[in-house]
Amino acid sequence: MQVTLLGTGDTTGTPTVGCDCDTCVEARRRGVERTRFSVHVENERTGESLLVDFSPDFRHQFLTQSVPLPDAGIVSHIHFDHLDGLGNAYRLFDDLPVYAANETDPATSESVAGTIERKYDYLDQVSVHPQTPFEPFEVCGLEVTLVPVDHPPLLCYGLAIEDPKTGAKLSLSGDTSYGLPDRSREELADPDLLLADGIVPAALCEHHPLGGKHHDDDGVPRTFGTKHMTREGALALAADLSASETRIVHTAHFYPAEEAFAEPLAVDGERYTI
Ligand SMILES: [Zn+2]
Ligand SMILES: [Zn+2]
Ligand SMILES: [Zn+2]
Repeated sequence: MQVTLLGTGDTTGTPTVGCDCDTCVEARRRGVERTRFSVHVENERTGESLLVDFSPDFRHQFLTQSVPLPDAGIVSHIHFDHLDGLGNAYRLFDDLPVYAANETDPATSESVAGTIERKYDYLDQVSVHPQTPFEPFEVCGLEVTLVPVDHPPLLCYGLAIEDPKTGAKLSLSGDTSYGLPDRSREELADPDLLLADGIVPAALCEHHPLGGKHHDDDGVPRTFGTKHMTREGALALAADLSASETRIVHTAHFYPAEEAFAEPLAVDGERYTI
């Protein structure tokens, strides 16, 4: 399985438009980017590939990274930075199956699959395939399981993606607080590669109107506000899941410049073979 990190940033990306903070300046100096979230997963055995989330930066990502267009897609949740790139399917695909969860979200009265069907009804190329969380399904020769995470007020899902032939396993946290259900942790456990949402360092929680949550024994918040993990939360999740390798993704330009490009924070274009 070849995993390419197409988009490793939060919803504004790094550099952020119009921002001259030290981190955005440093990103421009280094020539690196964190565009909006997307991950390309290629099954080398079958030559097929799967896209996790449709970044608004889809066009830029596929022009700048040498990966094939996907044979199928999966959408974790309906926030702009994960879904709204799906409109790029127009004229690029004859047929693009998209997989998403089938549970009705009380906040929207629709499932993720239902929202995609409604918003992209005009795109004949897109076919939506609703899936039940915790029930593995096969796509591109890989076994995929959607697992509920915690991203209030919307339903959101992490993913376990396994190659049934080689046993290679990729886990993605999705956008989530540290409060993932235990059953989801069990499904995500023991990955060869974990991509974990770590939007900011824990020290920045004091600037969030709601502060932090899910403090560890030393009082360090593992959740920033209510929706995302801190860097410390992402690392704690990696330890809890016994991840062989971890990259922190969905990071914001609010990281201080001297921490923003340190390990294990990912930047766009990283590629892993597992
Ligand atoms: Zn900035
Ligand atoms: Zn989100
Ligand atoms: Zn997001």
